[in-house]
Amino acid sequence: MKEKSRRQFIKSCFYAAISGLSPAFISLCAGCKKNEKSTSLPDIPGHENKEQPVVAGTAKNNPDFEPAYLKLHRSGELKKRGKELWDIMESCRLCPRECGASRLDGNEGFCHASSQLEISSYHPHHGEEKPLRGTGGSGTIFLTNCNLRCVFCINWEISQGGIGEPKSIEDMADMMLELQKTGCHNINFVTPTHYSPHIVLAVDIAAGKGLRIPIVYNTSGFERLEILKRLDGIVNIYLPDFKYFDGEMSAKYSSYAETYPEFAKAALLEMHRQVGVAKPADDGLMYKGLMIRHLVMPNRVSGTKNVIEWITENLPKETYFNIMSQYRPIYKAFDYPEIARRITRKEYNEALKWAKESGLTNLDIQGFPF
Ligand code: SF4
Repeated sequence: MKEKSRRQFIKSCFYAAISGLSPAFISLCAGCKKNEKSTSLPDIPGHENKEQPVVAGTAKNNPDFEPAYLKLHRSGELKKRGKELWDIMESCRLCPRECGASRLDGNEGFCHASSQLEISSYHPHHGEEKPLRGTGGSGTIFLTNCNLRCVFCINWEISQGGIGEPKSIEDMADMMLELQKTGCHNINFVTPTHYSPHIVLAVDIAAGKGLRIPIVYNTSGFERLEILKRLDGIVNIYLPDFKYFDGEMSAKYSSYAETYPEFAKAALLEMHRQVGVAKPADDGLMYKGLMIRHLVMPNRVSGTKNVIEWITENLPKETYFNIMSQYRPIYKAFDYPEIARRITRKEYNEALKWAKESGLTNLDIQGFPF
């Protein structure tokens, strides 16, 4: 089956599958009108730098919080940075793949993204870390396609199957405002790297219309410093994975990304420089900081011990570290016998032991669910 037909087929299957989900989720998936494919930088309306009233129902947990991106919106810096990022898509170097795709001409890169924004769904998410989900949920926006492309991706239909609809930057800004109005505590961009220009431009529009909640950058960690530096002052909470310590493993399971560990380590240091240690505020919610996720994999594939040691040696002991136990084989993982099973209780416990012995003090321990 040709690649485009294959993706179309997966898309049909996915929407057939979610037809059993709640009507609210479906309406959010299909809620925005479809847009014609467009690859030129849209004329961004609403950039008159006028302060708008806070949308009713927002910021109810912490009315004193003012995100740093507002200042950049007022000065015009947000729009400027969005345009700079946009231009990088001419011969794309938005991520460490640096595949050079001419996305502005409508071509797709290694990640399968052109300059046309595609979004799979947006909704309040109650399964994220407690300081992110609170009571109102984390306002997730699931972006289609991915630059890392792991064989065990739990969201593979979205990241690699092409599930999503073309949306405009204005659509995404409206989604953010809707999530805020619904009572979400933050806007959580899931797999944002390849659409970072669109995100910055959408935050600029939304900020002008009353967006006041924190921005969460929920990334695989496969990021370039040059791009992250342009997000300084825009992202409030970095939520990166630290997936592997060994480049042989990242090459094997994440589409030849043998440089993943070195890019992820540099990215974590830069993220920490920008937002510091993540500590919940008095209301229990997170407004700023670096929150690292690490998925424990079978047969020590993800290098948990080395990951923990590196964090201990290079970041403060209070760095937020979530040791995730939910790995399950899915998608192409069954082609690799060593990762074709869940982790054992013993494997999770040894990861916990390493973390506790390391002296890290801000561990998020989910427990072993099976
Ligand atoms: S973001 Fe996509 S198109 Fe750009 S360099 Fe990475 S893989 Fe290539």
